[in-house]
Amino acid sequence: MEDCIFCKIVNKEIPSTTEYEDEQFLAFHDIHPKSPLHLLLVPKKHIHSVDHLEFQDRDLMGDLVLTAQKIAKGRGLRGYQLHINVGRDGGQVVDHLHMHLQANI
Ligand code: AMP
Ligand code: ZN
Repeated sequence: MEDCIFCKIVNKEIPSTTEYEDEQFLAFHDIHPKSPLHLLLVPKKHIHSVDHLEFQDRDLMGDLVLTAQKIAKGRGLRGYQLHINVGRDGGQVVDHLHMHLQANI
């Protein structure tokens, strides 16, 4: 997706503060953090939103949550928030599926 800002971050065409990376996912710090820890976890595959998920994406979404758990455990977080905005009316601004991982540390 040529004009997708998160695809550009995944492809290192624009910089981000990388927290975690593997074959499927990239996690980086939100540029406008709304809590002391505010990460964005994105699949490297471009998917517009949760509303655009297909049946074959179910493993990816399971892995997304487990990767968030892994990042949280790695940081020793005792509690955190995970949320996904879906669609403009759901607060989604960037049209590349992403999960916010936030903590008050
Ligand atoms: P959402 O409202 O769920 O679409 O969240 C999009 C998030 O992406 C917002 O919290 C923005 O602050 C964040 N964001 C936008 N551009 C960048 C960027 N270049 N690097 C890091 N975070 C970004
Ligand atoms: Zn994208």
